[in-house]
Amino acid sequence: MTAVPDIMLNNGNTIPQFGLGVFLVEPKDTVQAVTTALADGYRHIDTAEGYGNEREVGQAVAKSGLDRGDVYITSKLDNDSHLPDDARRAFDATLEAIGSDYIDLFLIHWPVPTRYDGDYVSTWRTLEEFYRDGRARSIGVSNFQPHHLRRLHTECEIPPAVNQIEVHPYFTQDDVRAFCGEHQIAVEAWAPLAQGAVLGDPTIDSIARRVGRTPAQVVLRWHIERGDIVFPKSVSPARIRENIDIFDFELSGEDVEAISALNRNERGGPDPDKFDGS
Ligand code: NAD
Repeated sequence: MTAVPDIMLNNGNTIPQFGLGVFLVEPKDTVQAVTTALADGYRHIDTAEGYGNEREVGQAVAKSGLDRGDVYITSKLDNDSHLPDDARRAFDATLEAIGSDYIDLFLIHWPVPTRYDGDYVSTWRTLEEFYRDGRARSIGVSNFQPHHLRRLHTECEIPPAVNQIEVHPYFTQDDVRAFCGEHQIAVEAWAPLAQGAVLGDPTIDSIARRVGRTPAQVVLRWHIERGDIVFPKSVSPARIRENIDIFDFELSGEDVEAISALNRNERGGPDPDKFDGS
C-alpha cells in the first residue's frame, strides 16, 4: 500500500491527507475502530469534544505502541464553550481526555453566529493562546463561510490553518474551497461520502466498475485528487481497510470532472449561518 501523502499547512506543519473520522462512533466502539485503523496504516484521527469519544481515541493511540508524535489528532471546541474562559477549560479537558500535553490541530467546531452576539473573534483569539503556548500545534476552524474567515483575517493575528467543511460530490463547495485556496487555508472535507448517500450514484458506480474499485474508494480518491483532506468514518474493519486502500490508483481528469459535475449544492448538514449549535 502506498503511503498517505502529507499536506503542508500555512504554519509549516504537515497533516496526513487521509485519516479516520469518529463522529457518531459510540465510546464503546471507538477503541476498536481506532485500533483497527492504526493497524491498517491510518495516522490521523478526527474527533471533537461533542463526539464524546476523545478519551477512547487517546486510549487507542496509547495502546497502539506508536509514538504519540506519529499520530495526528484533531479535536474541536464545543459550541457551548465559546466564551474565552469556557474555551480554556474545554481545551484543558480535551488534553486531559486524550491523555496528551498537546493536540495536533484544534478547531472551532461551528461559528454559531446567532449566539455570543456573533462574536467568534474572541473565541479565535483564545485558540491563538493555545497555539502560542504550544499546546495546539495548529489551530483552525470548521464550517466557516468566506465572510466569517474574512473577519478573522481582518481582526486576528494568526490565520486558520484549516477550514473543515461539508464537501462531497453532491455538495462540492467550489466557492468556499476557492476562497480557502486563495488564502492558504487547507480544506478538510467532512462527510466525504455524504454519509453514504453518494455511493449508489450511477456515475460513480460506472466509474468504479471501469477502474475496478468500490464506489467509496472512487469518491475518496476524487477528494484526494482535488487536494482536500478526508477522514471517512467507519467502524467496520473491512470498510476501514477499503477506505485507505486508495493510494495505488488515480482517476483521470475526465472522471474527476464527471464526479464534480454531480454537484447539486445539496447540504446534508446544517447551514453554518443559521446553526446555533444545538
Ligand atoms: P462519511 O461521509 O464519512 O460517511 C460515513 C458513513 O458512510 C458510515 O457511517 C458508513 O455508513 C458509510 N461508509 C463508510 N465507509 C464505507 C464504505 N467503504 N462503503 C460503504 N459505506 C461506507 O460521514 P461522516 O462520518 O459524517 O464524516 C466523516 C468525518 O467528518 C466524521 O466522522 C467527523 O470526524 C467529521 N465531521 C465533521 C463535522 C463538522 O461539523 N466539522 C460534521 C460531520 C462530520
